[in-house]
Amino acid sequence: MKNIFRRHLLPAALWFLLCGCFCFKNNTPPELEQLGFKARSKMPGVFFHPRTGSVLKLAADTRICFINGMQFFLPHAVTVDDEGRFRVSELSIQKVIRPLFSEKTDNPRCIRTVLLDAGHGDHNLGAVGKKYREKDLNLSLTRKTAAALKKRGFNVKLTRADDRFLTLAERGKMARYKNADLFLSIHHNASGNPESCGVETYIVTPRGSASSNDKAHEIHRAAVPGNQHDVVNIRLAAELQKSLLKHTGRADRGVRFARFKVLALSQLPGALIEAGYISHEKEELLCGKESEQNKTAEAIAEAVSRLNQRSQRSN
Ligand SMILES: [Zn+2]
Repeated sequence: MKNIFRRHLLPAALWFLLCGCFCFKNNTPPELEQLGFKARSKMPGVFFHPRTGSVLKLAADTRICFINGMQFFLPHAVTVDDEGRFRVSELSIQKVIRPLFSEKTDNPRCIRTVLLDAGHGDHNLGAVGKKYREKDLNLSLTRKTAAALKKRGFNVKLTRADDRFLTLAERGKMARYKNADLFLSIHHNASGNPESCGVETYIVTPRGSASSNDKAHEIHRAAVPGNQHDVVNIRLAAELQKSLLKHTGRADRGVRFARFKVLALSQLPGALIEAGYISHEKEELLCGKESEQNKTAEAIAEAVSRLNQRSQRSN
């Protein structure tokens, strides 16, 4: 028995190990290798980025990827080539992976003034929960976010400071003349599924891609004004989502793309935050709680600070 093991099983095991190492070494697609990623795990689709210590997880035929466990939607679905390697489209690299992992921070912009937009208002209630209306939660969270940002030395402007109605186009266009450096629209979510809960951060969909929630996968070829800041937008969204998850402990529903008018028409870098689901029984109560709103406001202010530090470092 010992001889069989030594003569056959041991060499076979060594051979498999060697093959495994060889395949594993060649498993990194060139577009990820260029950015410094290395396949470090025998799990297919898992790549390590030594400079930042980050882990990227890809899966075939989906636009969803995970960076350090946090969910991101890519502009295009990941594919697998003839050699069995995961491949990431040029647009996904350009609009998501490279901005998050490249050392070069092109388009740096110092943030001094933030324009906050409390979603809905007046007769436009937004989502309506058992206890709260979205327009009220949005305004209350926006006020707390304004205070948290001011405490960190930022100037803050608001699209609405009270319960009034503004069209989406008006809000988006305000980002042209309010003389601000960053636009953040604050919302709360709702779903027909009472189990849905968690935080989402949206940025404007890149040209040539479908929005994350678009089941028909409609690709827009034309750019919108908001697309001029795609690179900053994804960095902003990553900071926001990370900070929101850390401070609120809510479920991660991902960094997503959408062509919301407020983002598409904005001339500023910006994002739309869905801070929680008011159609979820427990989350609705949390979203209405002052201490929880303060945590969310602090999360947003911290994310803006971190993005600003990153911009300043690159100047
Ligand atoms: Zn809303």
